Amino acid sequence: MKAMVLRRTCDLEHDKTPLGLRDIPTPTPANGEILVRVSVCGVCHTELDEIEGRTPPPRFPVVLGHQVVGVVDKTTRGTSRFKTGDRVGVAWIYSACGTCRFCREGRENLCPQFKATGRDADGGYAEWMTVPEAFAHPVPKVFTDVEAAPLLCAGAVGYRALKLAGMKDGQNLGLTGFGASGHLVLKLARHRYPRSSVFVFARSAKEREFARTLGAAWVGDTADESPEKLDCIIDTTPVWKPVVDALGNLSAGGRLVINAIRKEDVDKSCLLGLDYSRHLWLEKEIKSVANVERRDVIEFLELAAEIPIKPEVQEYRLEDANQALVELKERKIRGAKVLKVRP
Ligand SMILES: [Zn+2]
Ligand SMILES: [Zn+2]
Repeated sequence: MKAMVLRRTCDLEHDKTPLGLRDIPTPTPANGEILVRVSVCGVCHTELDEIEGRTPPPRFPVVLGHQVVGVVDKTTRGTSRFKTGDRVGVAWIYSACGTCRFCREGRENLCPQFKATGRDADGGYAEWMTVPEAFAHPVPKVFTDVEAAPLLCAGAVGYRALKLAGMKDGQNLGLTGFGASGHLVLKLARHRYPRSSVFVFARSAKEREFARTLGAAWVGDTADESPEKLDCIIDTTPVWKPVVDALGNLSAGGRLVINAIRKEDVDKSCLLGLDYSRHLWLEKEIKSVANVERRDVIEFLELAAEIPIKPEVQEYRLEDANQALVELKERKIRGAKVLKVRP
């Protein structure tokens, strides 16, 4: 089968073609797994973290991609939820042990055996993939494949971030960074918290304009001071300075949720600018979002279908995955990037 394969970690600044188009064997599903004929796969910022070694895959070559939509091509002994031809989505959570303390408490996203799709197991930048049936999700009919893909990660993890922010209707929400996740969270927040105002901090004028069209009450640069203090802020930027700036904009008792699997080191020195009285005093909280649970994916898909939330999407061919990744790195963003695996 055709796949875009990562052979080693590298610096995207210098190597703009980290993935190679290869013909590799179509995977065979083990018992309890299904074989998925992939239709589309979303492109996520986490892929940049994998390629550049901040969260490196444990083995190479590996097929990236964890926002996968396709149809079930083969079931196996031990599967029963899906039948051949059913449409399914696969998200970042590929499997968890099911028996550890975290899994038993319903926090499978924190499982020490957590396996990520497209990092610890081959993902969706390919024509076929296998996945444990219990970790595949039905996709609501209202979405096309391309629309559904970004909901599986950017949407689901954004939904989790919003849950962790502990928002109440009427409280002000800040979003620092406005990529694939930010724009879905804005739509979700406007629906769930109609009396709240959303303040968007984004580096590029295009992103700010986009946020405005989606109903942001105020837009500015990530370094700007907001016109009023904010109760919750969600950070989706890859660096540190927006974190410090966001803490300055947070109200007393406010919470900053950092939605990033890793931060880049380029501006780590900004953390020395943290001033306790200005940035942390008065019970300000910082919390990170780690992975997703299956229920985040399922709940968000249902909610997105009901509202409905349809993401703004930019399409690429599978062969052009490198271009999509480089554009993501260079922050040429409007909505979410999706690879069409089959023409
Ligand atoms: Zn992702
Ligand atoms: Zn576990």
